[in-house]
Amino acid sequence: MPSVSSPAPAPARPPMKPLDLALAELLAFATTLAPAESLSTFDADGRVLAQDLLSALDVPAHDNSSMDGYAVRCADWQGADTLLPVSQRIPAGSSGHALAGASVARIFTGAPMPPGADAVVMQEDCEVVEGGIRIAAQPRCGQWIRRRGEDVAAGSVVLQRGTRLSPASLGLAASIGFDRLQVAPRVRVALFSTGDELVMPGDVAPADMKPGAIYNSNRFFLKALLQRLGCTVTDLGIVPDRLEATIDALKGASQQHDLILTSGGVSVGEEDHIKPAVQALGTLNLWQIAIKPGKPFAYGKIGAAHFIGLPGNPVSSFVTFLLLVRPFILQLQGANSLAPESIALRADFDWPKADKRREFLRVRLNVAGRLELFANQSSGVLTSAVWGDGLVDNPAGQTIAHGDTVRFIPFSSLLS
Ligand code: AMP
Ligand code: MG
Repeated sequence: MPSVSSPAPAPARPPMKPLDLALAELLAFATTLAPAESLSTFDADGRVLAQDLLSALDVPAHDNSSMDGYAVRCADWQGADTLLPVSQRIPAGSSGHALAGASVARIFTGAPMPPGADAVVMQEDCEVVEGGIRIAAQPRCGQWIRRRGEDVAAGSVVLQRGTRLSPASLGLAASIGFDRLQVAPRVRVALFSTGDELVMPGDVAPADMKPGAIYNSNRFFLKALLQRLGCTVTDLGIVPDRLEATIDALKGASQQHDLILTSGGVSVGEEDHIKPAVQALGTLNLWQIAIKPGKPFAYGKIGAAHFIGLPGNPVSSFVTFLLLVRPFILQLQGANSLAPESIALRADFDWPKADKRREFLRVRLNVAGRLELFANQSSGVLTSAVWGDGLVDNPAGQTIAHGDTVRFIPFSSLLS
């Protein structure tokens, strides 16, 4: 009699990797892309600087006035009735000459201080009279003077290689004479979503959606997140849940791209074809990362292209992008600041159930400066990421009670 075979044992699950370890391993693959490109400073916002910017001059180049008023020699003031004649006029853009004894110079904001003057009195504090001016209060030596080099000293590195350029840093680069900047090349990313249930908004009206169909939301935020990081995105759309189709898409994407980014299909279900497809074409490291949301995550290499597979659940996809893909892309550009700092804030909520994974809770800052929790923390509820101002980074095994200090990572630091 044939015996009833016992069910095959479930395959051993790989141990979950701590996030910090996964990130370190991931970053070890991210060799900075070359060559740098030269851009007009006007066009360099958000790009990563590929050179140290050394200043050839002091900024300001001369001691100058920070007010419209009068440049004076403090010792000339003998009291509120001292009459001081105006011996010269120095508008911004011109330079004066040595201040004649017992006189003042009419001076305007930004104009260089005339030699011999040691303070500026703002015009509001001067009385203009026949033959000169009178100053009611004793001028303080050095007042209203911006010192030569107080912003930038000649010979100093003003912006370091690896700086992500902001509007203010473009202004600073311009202030030392740089009209062009060497920046890291744009990361060329091929993006696609997997899932036969996915429908593009616009293709099918909400009323006509078939049971089981959902709109593709990941494609929208992933594309936007990539673009904010300065990537050039090739959007390959939706790839059906078939091995051949997945292999074809990956093969095509591995040409001319630095990174292939996918969402969905990285779990271990039999409709998850990403894993065998990447293995057929290159190498794959599949990681279960000990975070919630966002456990499944894959990294691999297909030819010269990096491959990253994100989970399909929208919040998991969003959070793993911010925590892992963002620093990876920044490192490809040689950025020297990858991970955002978290700040300590108090919780205005209870989180009584500890999880064995490190959690990233969607929270909002309230008017009391404390954090409120979005009620539904499910990895499918994208509303939480819109409602929230950021994430609470909650260590594994930790509960939270009202008033506890928690670590908060603002979205503002992750979405630029
Ligand atoms: P998967 O990782 O492919 O098993 O997908 C996990 C869950 O995320 C499923 O409920 C999918 O329907 C959903 N999902 C996958 N991709 C997307 C997407 N691009 N947009 C919205 N939901 C998605
Ligand atoms: Mg799927």
